Amino acid sequence: MGKTVVAVVGVPGVGKTTVLNLVVKELTSEGFNVKVINFGDYMFNVLHAKGIVKSRDEIRHQSMEVQINAQLMAAEEIRKEIDLMQDVGNNVVIIDTHAVIKTGNGFWSGLPEYVVKRIQPKAIVIIESSVEEIMSRQGRDKNRYRADYNDPRLLNELLMMNRMYAIASAVLVGAVVRIVYNREGAPGEAAQEIVNLITALG
Ligand code: ATP
Ligand code: AMP
Ligand code: MG
Repeated sequence: MGKTVVAVVGVPGVGKTTVLNLVVKELTSEGFNVKVINFGDYMFNVLHAKGIVKSRDEIRHQSMEVQINAQLMAAEEIRKEIDLMQDVGNNVVIIDTHAVIKTGNGFWSGLPEYVVKRIQPKAIVIIESSVEEIMSRQGRDKNRYRADYNDPRLLNELLMMNRMYAIASAVLVGAVVRIVYNREGAPGEAAQEIVNLITALG
């Protein structure tokens, strides 16, 4: 196995970062050399350095020009980061990101051609939960500001949009699409499913 890249997407607050922390623990204990790259971190670093945003939840409210530019720069940096990883034969790179972002101007792809072709994921994993679960997780998580996503109708629409955008990105690079359910109180189950997938991808 060389460098296996997997993109993990899902609506804000569904539990991507939580599940991926568990995935890293498990894969590391199985001897994989794992790196999780949070796409939003890279966009935040670009925009924070320029004094444009103070928090990651401000990114999606910027103009399209600002977001597209930051997205491009993030994709470029991430590619460099992947290339810099020493190829010891069992490297796994997981990109914690979004298939679709609700911007002030409309829905926007998180993995458009110029991004997904830079990253070349073998799989796009969509993490899903029920609207009720997502709303209650968003409400409990005081570290983030997701009020713009805290609406049942929007979340229903976004669950559907995530699938559509993920498929659109996957066909550009021949990636598999996998839907993983993050059950309330059991993020480890979702993590195990992702671990099994990554192991099987080879
Ligand atoms: P964002 O896209 O905004 O970064 P995210 O998908 O990474 O969101 P997390 O930050 O991982 O979401 O999770 C949001 C909240 O939900 C956190 O408080 C986390 O502890 C909680 N959470 C995640 N998964 C579960 C679960 N299976 N059961 C209960 N709570 C969960
Ligand atoms: P996150 O912590 O995953 O929610 O990421 C923070 C923010 O970064 C998101 O709310 C988006 O505004 C932005 N972001 C993350 N991934 C992407 C992407 N692939 N394309 C565009 N914006 C992204
Ligand atoms: Mg997250």
